[in-house]
Amino acid sequence: MDSSAWIPFNRPYMTGKELPYIAQAHAHAALAGDGAYTKLCHHWLEARTGANKALLTHSCTGALEMAALLLEIEPGDEIILPSFTFVSTANAFVLRGGVPVFVDIRPDTLNIDESLIEAAITPKTRAIVPVHYAGVACEMDTVLEIARRHGLMVVEDAAQGVMSTYKGRALGSIGDYGAYSFHETKNLISGEGGALLVNRPDMVEAAEICREKGTDRSRFFRGEIDKYTWQAIGSSFLPGEMVAAFLWAQLEEADALTAQRLAAWRRYRELIEPMEHAGAVRRPIVPPDREHNGHMFYVLLERDVDRQAVLGWMKAEGIGAVFHYVPLHSSSAGMRYGRSHGSCAVTDDLSARIIRLPLWIGISPDQQQRVVDVLARSIAAARAA
Ligand SMILES: *Cc1c(COP(=O)(O)O)cnc(C)c1O
Repeated sequence: MDSSAWIPFNRPYMTGKELPYIAQAHAHAALAGDGAYTKLCHHWLEARTGANKALLTHSCTGALEMAALLLEIEPGDEIILPSFTFVSTANAFVLRGGVPVFVDIRPDTLNIDESLIEAAITPKTRAIVPVHYAGVACEMDTVLEIARRHGLMVVEDAAQGVMSTYKGRALGSIGDYGAYSFHETKNLISGEGGALLVNRPDMVEAAEICREKGTDRSRFFRGEIDKYTWQAIGSSFLPGEMVAAFLWAQLEEADALTAQRLAAWRRYRELIEPMEHAGAVRRPIVPPDREHNGHMFYVLLERDVDRQAVLGWMKAEGIGAVFHYVPLHSSSAGMRYGRSHGSCAVTDDLSARIIRLPLWIGISPDQQQRVVDVLARSIAAARAA
């Protein structure tokens, strides 16, 4: 192999069944949403997660927006979430007039620090939105216990958590609602795509209505009613059948694809162990009571190392390593629409030190070795500069 060939950060993997399934949807001229492939995906997600109802959406962003609608978020309602997350976690609620209240993260998992949640609760708080960073579960027992005590809803942003578990339970199936992403950069993909897991039996019908433009079209198609009408506010959140056909090809192989990602993740863990012992980087920490899905391998640099310089050296040597979230609490929209409760010092610190390494199905042991060698050289070069 060419030792200077570019190693991208992400390379979408396809199982080979995507096009045949899309061709089948095309041949049946069944192209709108909720056809045969969507049903296969729904049943699979329900069987694998234990969710009461799984509903495909056009994105995880769409699933979070559905959750905000189902929670009937009103202007001024507050939502507690980490600042270290993707914009959609906050935006979905801001669209309804909600106010994101940012709290800091834990230094070990980079997930919301559950010990800070209770102090951020006010009479306006409606929901807690834990984000399972890198597919590693938040402290869900504590989150649920706080929510129960204060009568709050829990919406899991499990965009990165498909196939991960917390004490044996699938991420996304633990709170009132869970949101998955099948974006091209996630573990199982359909280009753009997502799903809402509805874990409350009493909200399944409302969720179907919300997703189908506010109509009871889902019941109509099941033959439960003889016409469908406008029932509630909603929008068009469902994907077409070609997207579902693509996704089905991925879900069928979910166990094998997850095993391959995990193998690459564990290889990085081993290769980087000496660097951690030498004090050059910190590796991800996964508490023992949860299984992750190998979504992401990151390292945390020491505080005195210039991350931009490291990324620059890595890029020059052909490695597509990247940083991650710019914290929401100090972003322009975050300051306009939300507020932080207490300091987000851990968020500020760790978000400035994180580097994510190339990880995709098919990355070879040699390529991973090269990534790690270049990482070590780049840190040394940045230090010497
Ligand atoms: C990817 C991601 C999203 C958004 O997913 P889309 O499917 O692109 O809308 C939301 N939250 C987190 C934590 C993510 O990683």
